Amino acid sequence: MIRAIYPGSFDPVTLGHLDIIRRASQKVDELIVGVLNNGGKTPLFSIDERVSMLKEVTGGLSNVKILSFSGLLVDFARQTEATIVVRGLRAISDFEYELQMAQTNSILNSEVDTMFLTASNDYSYLSSTTVKEIASFGGNIEKFVPKEICSRIYEKYSGKR
Ligand code: ADP
Repeated sequence: MIRAIYPGSFDPVTLGHLDIIRRASQKVDELIVGVLNNGGKTPLFSIDERVSMLKEVTGGLSNVKILSFSGLLVDFARQTEATIVVRGLRAISDFEYELQMAQTNSILNSEVDTMFLTASNDYSYLSSTTVKEIASFGGNIEKFVPKEICSRIYEKYSGKR
């Protein structure tokens, strides 16, 4: 039984994330999408909102589970008995941070290996930050996020424009 965790903020989930979730879930028995509840960052969406959007857009993927976690990723991996951490790599700019995190995590928990999936060409430019910026100006985000959640993103900004 190979269980992997795909951790992230998912604030909000984008088509780039969903692409990684689909591809990773085909390579393992179970993929846990771990939504980080990090007190240090102030997300646009609450942890419950991020979990609920992910559940909605991954409903058709039977071996994908959505859970939230706080604290260290390596501890979450131990609790869930996961041995793989999946991360997406978009560009060289992701690499330095990702390498440092993967190496640190392997020292903290040698049972866990980080595996990287390269972003698909279609989504290698895409980030949650870009989506939020476009939505904040009322731009069209349909090409960037699953259509089921577009309205929830616009709603966040409807009172602010
Ligand atoms: P974090 O705050 O941990 O970077 P994100 O939600 O921004 O969380 O991203 C989670 C993971 O998904 C990271 O490994 C990131 O590199 C990857 N990722 C983000 N956007 C894309 C994309 N468009 N294509 C592929 N991977 C992506």
